[in-house]
Amino acid sequence: MFANLTSLNNGAHADCCIVGAGPAGITIARKLARAGKKVFLFEGGSEDISAKSQDIYKGDVLDDTYLPLDVVRLRFLGGTSNHWAGYCQPFIEHSFKGTKKFPHASWPIKKKNLDPFSDETQEILDVKLKNDKRFLFDDPKSNLLLHKTEISSPTNFKNKYYDELKNNKNLFVFLNSNLIDLSTNGEKIIAAQFQNYHNESRNIIADKFVLATGGIENNRILLHGNKRNKGLLVKNPRTLGRYFMEHPLDRRMAVVAMFKKEKNIAQPNKLYYPTEKLKKKYNILDFTTNLEEKPRDKYRIAFIKKLKQITSIPDIKNINFSYLFSFLEMPPRSSNKITLGENTDQFGIPRVQLALKITEEEYLTKALFCKFLAQYMIDNQIGRVKVSNRIWNAMPEEGSWGFHHMGGTRMAETSEWGIVDKNCRVFGQKNLYIAGSSVFASGGCVAPTFTIIQLALRLAEQLQRPAYDA
Ligand SMILES: Cc1cc2nc3c(=O)[nH]c(=O)nc-3n(C[C@H](O)[C@H](O)[C@H](O)COP(=O)(O)OP(=O)(O)OC[C@H]3O[C@@H](n4cnc5c(N)ncnc54)[C@H](O)[C@@H]3O)c2cc1C
Repeated sequence: MFANLTSLNNGAHADCCIVGAGPAGITIARKLARAGKKVFLFEGGSEDISAKSQDIYKGDVLDDTYLPLDVVRLRFLGGTSNHWAGYCQPFIEHSFKGTKKFPHASWPIKKKNLDPFSDETQEILDVKLKNDKRFLFDDPKSNLLLHKTEISSPTNFKNKYYDELKNNKNLFVFLNSNLIDLSTNGEKIIAAQFQNYHNESRNIIADKFVLATGGIENNRILLHGNKRNKGLLVKNPRTLGRYFMEHPLDRRMAVVAMFKKEKNIAQPNKLYYPTEKLKKKYNILDFTTNLEEKPRDKYRIAFIKKLKQITSIPDIKNINFSYLFSFLEMPPRSSNKITLGENTDQFGIPRVQLALKITEEEYLTKALFCKFLAQYMIDNQIGRVKVSNRIWNAMPEEGSWGFHHMGGTRMAETSEWGIVDKNCRVFGQKNLYIAGSSVFASGGCVAPTFTIIQLALRLAEQLQRPAYDA
């Protein structure tokens, strides 16, 4: 049911207090309430977008160009599911493993730990995954596997789950209620403080607390909370805010001209990713790639002119043109990080600063892949590839990111390499858990929400166990 923050007494108690009503928070709240737990779900925004809530998401971006931080996430009921695109795909097995160069990119869990939650995740996200493994051009020699990405409707968590949030008697949803402080005694959270937009606040007590405030905000809350609690909240903060990851996109890496018709080509939901063999051979990062959308006439005409100079081409009318699109892994690097800035929001909490930089390694992956594809096309007389000058000059496609905010409160075996353990519990706190992509130890090259929901369902199971027994 929906209730006002001020309807609570100071010291009101719940079995579980969840902060943030986006896909992660709503999923955990529903599971626990259905299991008979008394759940408080606090959401900083209201039912619809508002300037006063959205303002809290403002921050500074350092280094590479990025869209403003209050544009790339939404701060109201349903969170960023109010404008996500719906691409759904589970993490690929090798993304959990780490690499020689980035051994700390490995997760303390494996794909098989999340697989049992796949069916329920598909129901929640309204997608049906198909176990469909094929190779680009249907040829195993290409070393590129077809990985079919499914597209959700896309599910809007506010619309889909509104009635359940309203009618479940164990679930209390408080809108316009912002977490502004967490208090710890050094071992567990003893209270959380929430404030509305009229300066009214309440202290809440719960057996367990879950932060589900999105990939960037989970970091901000812990960074601020750790300062307020004089380092007792995150006792080893070495990695806090660090190893932040995104997915750089490039919609127009190259124009591809295919002389032969290929049945897998030019369908936007068919993505390919490299096999481990290919990655090792060229020492490249993970990526997904796709041939989509016809280039505009002027690009096609210029390309045909060039093609005529370099090769004898069959009937021009039968050439199939498309753009080459890529979606790239960004390995966890300590220098990509979230910190607290000097300016504060309306609650006096420092705004975030995001430092995010694409390096040589990402550009090299794109360039090598374009070369590899071009050579493959020439060898097999399939077509030709015209690579964008940006790729050779190592320039990003302006503003092209997945808007997937991963890392900063990463999952690890020990507090030396992360902030939460394999059960998403903050190291050193018995009753504080993190939900969402900030716990990702590596970002892989697939969209994160499918994995976020799998992890949320797994966490909801942990939370049903007796207090502190995770
Ligand atoms: C344009 C766009 C397209 C995208 N497309 C895709 C896609 O195709 N596939 C995919 O997998 N992902 C996509 N994403 C990412 C996807 O939206 C996120 O992965 C997903 O929403 C994360 O869910 P979450 O619950 O962890 O966080 P969020 O959705 O960010 O929800 C966090 C919630 O916490 C609340 N909150 C924040 N701070 C506080 C506070 N202090 N107190 C109380 N409440 C608070 C917020 O209001 C919000 O409701 C896209 C994102 C964008 C921006």
